Amino acid sequence: MSDTIAAIATPQAAGGIGIVRISGKQSIEIADRVFQSADGKPLTESRGYAAHFGYVYNNKKKIDTAIALVFRAPKSYTGENVVELSCHGGLYVIKSVLRAVLEKGARIAEAGEFTRRAFENGKISLTQAEAVMDIVSAQGEQAARAALSAMEGRLSAKIDDIKKELIGYASHLAAWADYPEEDLVPVDRDELIRNLEDCTKRLRKMVDDGDAGKVIRDGVDTVIVGKPNVGKSTLMNCLAGCERSIVTHIAGTTRDIVEEKIVLGDVILRLADTAGIHNTADPVESIGVERAKDRMKRAGLVIAVFDNSLPLDNDDISLIESVKLLPCIAVINKNDMENRLDAEYIKNNLKKIMFISAKDESGIDELGNAISDLLGVAELNPADGILSGERQINCCRNCLQMVEEAKTALTAGITLDAVNVSLDSAIEYLLELTGERVSNVVADAVFHNFCVGK
Ligand code: GDP
Repeated sequence: MSDTIAAIATPQAAGGIGIVRISGKQSIEIADRVFQSADGKPLTESRGYAAHFGYVYNNKKKIDTAIALVFRAPKSYTGENVVELSCHGGLYVIKSVLRAVLEKGARIAEAGEFTRRAFENGKISLTQAEAVMDIVSAQGEQAARAALSAMEGRLSAKIDDIKKELIGYASHLAAWADYPEEDLVPVDRDELIRNLEDCTKRLRKMVDDGDAGKVIRDGVDTVIVGKPNVGKSTLMNCLAGCERSIVTHIAGTTRDIVEEKIVLGDVILRLADTAGIHNTADPVESIGVERAKDRMKRAGLVIAVFDNSLPLDNDDISLIESVKLLPCIAVINKNDMENRLDAEYIKNNLKKIMFISAKDESGIDELGNAISDLLGVAELNPADGILSGERQINCCRNCLQMVEEAKTALTAGITLDAVNVSLDSAIEYLLELTGERVSNVVADAVFHNFCVGK
């Protein structure tokens, strides 16, 4: 933390503007060694939040014209003195500027080091730091909104409320247990049970929203299954084509699994169009069928496709049996054709059923809404501060478990200091969540995922 770090903060590609960010005690002095402002004044004389037009040099050689933005500690992203040199975004130019800055005394920043400094300097909590990462990698509107609200502190505020409450209860209990002779307000077990019940409700909602949030942030593993010719590939192409937001495309063979990542309404689907599931004697085909079945069991969402123009057959019925207990939507395709399918049978066996025509691209929006509904995304308010990632959800889940334990102990009439052990653990988990008490190993793991320059 004592040295001055620098990195290119913009993407490593040609662009209109490229930014070299410098942070640390020496950042303004180092910037002065490479930057000459047009008015001749050194940056060391600049106030914070000021922009200066000038030139960047490496030794005597002019590299580029630039704007130097000066931020003075603690009013900067990292909480330290920061200078950002905005140059022309050519890769050669921006790398030359960085090289000059490094030669004049800065060290190259590690991945996520600027944000880590912001965290270490108390500018942001660990959940806010993680939100920075989320906003950089957000692939959909909802994910970006969720990350923004967490970055702005909505999530931290929610956690803080619960933390303060739990600390209040724990300190009262501790005082009561340790100093029974003092004139303290007695602990009202029933009232405390009610308060803890309220905490568990809020924590449970946070965990549930966090789980649903994974769908808008990371997407959900989705498989499209059904016997051959029901229109799985057509549906997949329609979904990918309708949205025009394909992120990845891994080509497979027709007998294997093809994957697309698409945004449908609020959710990101990591879609796999599998080989048709049906009985087959072909040994190669049956490998594909087995793989499809395996993938289906592990999927977060199964789209089971049926053909509206044909009566149900044994393949359909065995598919219905195998998806009954999975998070599944039945899609009756070829709704543009005459109905010969017994949709009632499917309705009676599967929770959700939608009618579409993949060929005409009709019913696709409704399918998106039904998926949001099924995955619990529909009620999710991204602006509400949603937990993000396994680390956060696990901390919250552990805290919830401890508060429940405290509540059970209270109800069972167990001694108050025993109740307090559970409450203390619950508070510890919240402190780990916000990063107020977090091991270096955990912090390292969080920042390890960042890009250089952030
Ligand atoms: P898959 O084997 O399940 O992947 O089925 P395909 O997507 O290859 O479709 C099989 C046949 O059904 C093709 O001839 C498609 O053009 C046709 N098909 C797919 N969806 C529809 C639909 O909604 N309406 C009609 N009429 N035909 C469709």
